[in-house]
Amino acid sequence: MRRVNPIPVVAIGLIGLVALMAPWLGLADPVRIDVSNRLSAPSWQHWLGQDEVGRDILSRLLWGARSSLTVAILSASIGCAIGTSLGVLGGFLGGVVDLLTIRAADVILCFPPLLLALLVVTLLGPGAATLVPVLGLVFIPGFVRVAYAGVLSVRHQEYVEAQRALGVGPLRIMLRTVLPNIGGPVLVQFSLAMAAAVVLESGLSFLGLGVVPPAPSWGLMIGAARQTMAQTVLPLLWPCLALTMTVLTMNALCDAVRAAVDPHGTPPRERRWKLPALLPGLPFGAASSLSVNGLSVAIETRTDERKTGEVRPVRSVSWQVAPGETLAIVGESGSGKSLTGLAVLGLLPPVARASEGAVHFEGRELLRLDEPALRRLRGGDIAMVFQDPMASLNPVHRIGRQIAEAIRVHRRVSRAAAWREAVALLARVGIPDAAHRARSFPHELSGGMRQRAMVAMAIANRPKLLIADEPTTALDVTIQAQVLEMLAELKAENGMGLVFITHSLPVVAEIADRVVVMYAGEIVEQGPVAELFARPLHPYTAALLSSAPPEDGSLPHAIPGTVPLPQNLPAGCAFAPRCAMSRPQCEAAAPLLEHAGPQHATRCIRWRAMAADPVVEAASA
Ligand code: SF4
Repeated sequence: MRRVNPIPVVAIGLIGLVALMAPWLGLADPVRIDVSNRLSAPSWQHWLGQDEVGRDILSRLLWGARSSLTVAILSASIGCAIGTSLGVLGGFLGGVVDLLTIRAADVILCFPPLLLALLVVTLLGPGAATLVPVLGLVFIPGFVRVAYAGVLSVRHQEYVEAQRALGVGPLRIMLRTVLPNIGGPVLVQFSLAMAAAVVLESGLSFLGLGVVPPAPSWGLMIGAARQTMAQTVLPLLWPCLALTMTVLTMNALCDAVRAAVDPHGTPPRERRWKLPALLPGLPFGAASSLSVNGLSVAIETRTDERKTGEVRPVRSVSWQVAPGETLAIVGESGSGKSLTGLAVLGLLPPVARASEGAVHFEGRELLRLDEPALRRLRGGDIAMVFQDPMASLNPVHRIGRQIAEAIRVHRRVSRAAAWREAVALLARVGIPDAAHRARSFPHELSGGMRQRAMVAMAIANRPKLLIADEPTTALDVTIQAQVLEMLAELKAENGMGLVFITHSLPVVAEIADRVVVMYAGEIVEQGPVAELFARPLHPYTAALLSSAPPEDGSLPHAIPGTVPLPQNLPAGCAFAPRCAMSRPQCEAAAPLLEHAGPQHATRCIRWRAMAADPVVEAASA
């Protein structure tokens, strides 16, 4: 958080302090009448003069400030607490909760605030005790709307998904991740509510429905001074000035607070740094393996009002990853590789579900686990790193705190111990001056450091398996190489299995032991990385290899066409429309995944021709 502009803080502090100290400032009695000196001009005894019945205006002004500020703070706080809670619950949980909270807010919003307050105060009678709950009720819908809109904008942000991936529960996500991220708009709404409460209190008092006379109030003062404004305007001027200045100061204060809590600022210049040697590691658990068998993901579609259909963007995918092994899943956008990774951890978006297959990890079938069991697993034994660390890290919390939180979700350690461990993890992933960097916000770090921080968070609970979804795509080549090197070091050091999802074959060559190539939701080829690179047995793999940027700087060969959408898959081979080796029989029936070697499989009916001479065959096609 940056420094708050001190000017509105000091100004509002002075107003509050003076109002609070009114009984001890030696002021005249605010209700003592002195008719013989009515409407007197300012004097040494009465600095701002006397009102229409001779009461001291300065005293009534300061005592009136106590009434106005008390009503404003209490009513805005009530509206903020109830409205924000309802908005967050409705936005985050959705469904019936969403319907109830938002519709209830809409019903209240149908009534103009002043009319609603007038109606209730007329029914219940005037007085500050009535004003506070009434104004609180009037402010609730505004807070509901602001909080609801804020939650909708952040609930599918990657840093919220990343929290789910770490196994954090919904209540904790709402309180620790969502709420701080909507703090800015809620604070602005709070300032508006406070200012509106001061104005509404004065307006209702002016109408005789607010503070009960003879108790001082700015609204009562304005109402009384209006009667005598033909004789002198000073009794009218002072409460109007006090009201205006207070409202403006409140708005300025909350703008200043919002500017301070807004985490998005200009990031520091990218710094180049050397990958240091890893620090002594924390003990990792015994390594295990993951087995995915026949996994399919289905998305329900609605073709018209009555008919629903289903598309399957991932179909019958099977692979295994052994302890200490790196399995790369490679393919273009739309190939289904990321959905496969999300399905393994039960993190599919609400519209998608794992419709077939099984995922086994340490004797447990993950697709059958309930959400609490999956939460214990995520961020614990299996961790995930997402593509964009800026979007995956919570922008309003310090890096060290986020890592410490990830530790405390899964282990009973004190805050201090978790913080120390977070600093050690940051050092371990190669962040220089880790103790200092742990106190940084995400926007204060370079892209490479943020990705390292994400990896530190993912390995915080010593996972046996790490799923990394395009973790280097957003990084430049140098930083990308450093992150890859770091992942390889961590894996070698701890026997952690690694599933590396990427669209880049050069990255695969650098890091993977085995590779799975996906196209249009299916595995089209899989095998050991050296064998697959030397002898691709599917035209799509060969096309991906030739589309990688050549080392001599010449232009790569782009693959013509695009990946078909799941709802528009061809009847035969899905790659046929883009395949240079396609034959009529390729379009007759979908090819099966065939073994082309002990560990090598391909989904192409012409793989034998490719195996005989891939270059000649591809050229002659
Ligand atoms: S089956 Fe036919 S169309 Fe499909 S990849 Fe093989 S050669 Fe190309």
